[in-house]
Amino acid sequence: MRARFWGTRGSLPVALTAAEVKHKVAQALLLAGGRSFKDQAEAETYAATLPFTTAQTFGGNTSCVELELQPPGKDAHEYILCDAGSGLRPFGNAVLARHGPKTPNVFHIFMSHPHWDHIMGFPFFTPAYIPGNRLRIYGCHSGLEEAFRRQQAPPSFPVDFDYLGADIEFIQLEPGQRYDIAGLRVTPKLQLHGGDSYGYRFERQGKVVVYSTDSEHKLDSAEETESFVRFFFGADLVIFDAMYSLADAVSVKEDWGHSSNMVGVELCQLAGARHLVLFHHEPVFKDAKIAEIEAETRRLEALTRQDAPQLTISAAYDGLEIDL
Ligand SMILES: [Zn+2]
Ligand SMILES: [Zn+2]
Repeated sequence: MRARFWGTRGSLPVALTAAEVKHKVAQALLLAGGRSFKDQAEAETYAATLPFTTAQTFGGNTSCVELELQPPGKDAHEYILCDAGSGLRPFGNAVLARHGPKTPNVFHIFMSHPHWDHIMGFPFFTPAYIPGNRLRIYGCHSGLEEAFRRQQAPPSFPVDFDYLGADIEFIQLEPGQRYDIAGLRVTPKLQLHGGDSYGYRFERQGKVVVYSTDSEHKLDSAEETESFVRFFFGADLVIFDAMYSLADAVSVKEDWGHSSNMVGVELCQLAGARHLVLFHHEPVFKDAKIAEIEAETRRLEALTRQDAPQLTISAAYDGLEIDL
């Protein structure tokens, strides 16, 4: 399996400002120290050696993660996604760029919840407009379809949901039940969040990916902790809502429905997970701040590891790919 991140930001999309881009370019020029490059390709090779925050950015699209089956399932034009945040738009464009408007394609979209940042990419998902395509939207909320329809209803959007040309079906799942969908064993789990959210555990050929965003963890409940340890158990990859620092999560932002990097480390260690990906970044955080949280999380993991195998830590960015 391969996880490809199309949107990693929480709450609302953000973009680098002109001043921030200028700052990065100036930093890169300083680090280059007068070197010259014969062409763009050589300069890009050099840029790849610079610190991530100098040469790149974590990006600003909201939640959308693709799971690509390796080898692909029986139908190569079958796609699996978690959430339909603004990252869904570049995903749809990439599919069109690869295959053109050829149909049919089947898109399986697993929804954590219908908060706006998780559905806002849908009206801009071009494959939904193309007859012949099939969209299967899964979730545990009974009002999921209504939320999708409402964001495209007047006066909020010019194109009504009924105008979409693809064959679109909403499929309600029950938390705690196991399903076999698109070549994956899928188990949804209820999470603590305003209006509820659901995480998903995906299993295929011995590999496990957990998608767990918009989830607040109160570690004072042993029962709740235990249920998440079971949910994350032995996972190769845990995509985790680490929107806040621990200090924020336990003080000002308690009950805001999100979690911290520290809780992610603790739960992953208890569960024997292998790779923790910090996800749903706070939109206020600049690249340097997210990189700082990533480094701080790695230090914490090393300090608390004891005899357990190392837990790999990454901060998700738009464009990140992880092979399992
Ligand atoms: Zn969110
Ligand atoms: Zn939410």
